[in-house]
Amino acid sequence: MSLLDTLKKESEEALGEKPEVATQGTDQELDSGKTEVANAEDVPVPQSFDEDSIPSVVDEIFNTALEKHASDIHFKPKENKFEVFFRIDGTMVEYKLYDKIYHHPIIARIKIISGLKIDEHRLPQDGKSSFQGPGDKEVDLRVSILPTQYGEKVVIRLLEKNPKMVELRDLGMLPNILLKVEKHLKSTYGMILAVGPTGSGKSTSLFSMVSTFDAEDYNISTLEDPIEYKIPDVTQTQINPDIGFDFPDGLRTIVRQDPDIIMVGEIRDQKTASLAIESALTGHLVFSTLHTNSASGTIQRLLNMDIDRFLITAAVKIIISQRLVRKVCSSCREKYPVPAKFHQMLKEEIDITPENAFFYKANGCEKCNNTGYSGRIGIFEVLEMSPAIEELIINSASNTDIEAQAVREGMILLRKDALYKAVTGDITIEEALRVLNS
Ligand SMILES: [Zn+2]
Repeated sequence: MSLLDTLKKESEEALGEKPEVATQGTDQELDSGKTEVANAEDVPVPQSFDEDSIPSVVDEIFNTALEKHASDIHFKPKENKFEVFFRIDGTMVEYKLYDKIYHHPIIARIKIISGLKIDEHRLPQDGKSSFQGPGDKEVDLRVSILPTQYGEKVVIRLLEKNPKMVELRDLGMLPNILLKVEKHLKSTYGMILAVGPTGSGKSTSLFSMVSTFDAEDYNISTLEDPIEYKIPDVTQTQINPDIGFDFPDGLRTIVRQDPDIIMVGEIRDQKTASLAIESALTGHLVFSTLHTNSASGTIQRLLNMDIDRFLITAAVKIIISQRLVRKVCSSCREKYPVPAKFHQMLKEEIDITPENAFFYKANGCEKCNNTGYSGRIGIFEVLEMSPAIEELIINSASNTDIEAQAVREGMILLRKDALYKAVTGDITIEEALRVLNS
């Protein structure tokens, strides 16, 4: 019995029915989701199915994903078909719709290359592999398999082996925000925090900041989970909670290694927070991230982690709150006058004459996979510790009061930064609102 026959038989047994072939129905799920369809091609029903073609089918999927800079590939079985999606710049884009007959052979191929059990269909599995694309581009593959009602679903995260670090000045900070951040990078001690929800680009910001230091002149140590970018001459350590090596353990060891600069991937608990603050107050420049929604809300989070008010005011230098949004494709964007319903908002928030301003529409062209978007840019809100803010924190002022004071001292709120970027043509107004309202 050939591999294909075995797989078909297994699939029939697993599903308790014969896999249906050649059904092309409407796709409710796709229509209702936040999915953009671009370049989707329906694959004709195969007259004869050649199992030898499967490795090249899978290679083609990986190659295309690399070419389109996808961060993840989703292999999603449905009742009568099998769909492959890419996540590009945070958005799901349909790549191809396959006949259901491809489901098992493609999943089996993925299992083979990532060292997973081919005959296991009922339990989730996690695996790793790597893939060499054209032009020496190499990615690590993190494979996750989940059994579903229509068979196994696979999601593969693509991690570039040597991703290009984004320069600090290319993150998208307004010139005066950038100056503020650069000023604090000259400090010899204290804490610099990047905060925001998952996927807001916090790690990218930390790396951009840390890589402005000459690693030959400073002892730079990082604790990460996982190591995302490899920086030459920087001591990078992967924490591993499974074997009892967590952020606090790592931090305790790093401070004994005479560091100048410490980067802690994320402050998740009281112990890490307290050790990181202590390190920041004992002559080290500490970079870290926190999962909070605003710059001012970060103070409250640290207080909730039992960090003393005085220590917070003494240690924290700046808090960079951020979001990541899709940049509108500069090749096909189209400007249009700001609609009347936004006039008031623009006048009040960014003090411009809305009648003379423009927004930009995402159209879609070949360069942007017909999505209208290309690459991403950060939206930032940077709170700088000042004597007045220190006083408010010590006097248990509310987040609102702290934020209001920061704004008086020149802090640009996330919302404003997003509106600036909408009128300058970096992003669409829809993208600005989507991120700010979520
Ligand atoms: Zn375009």
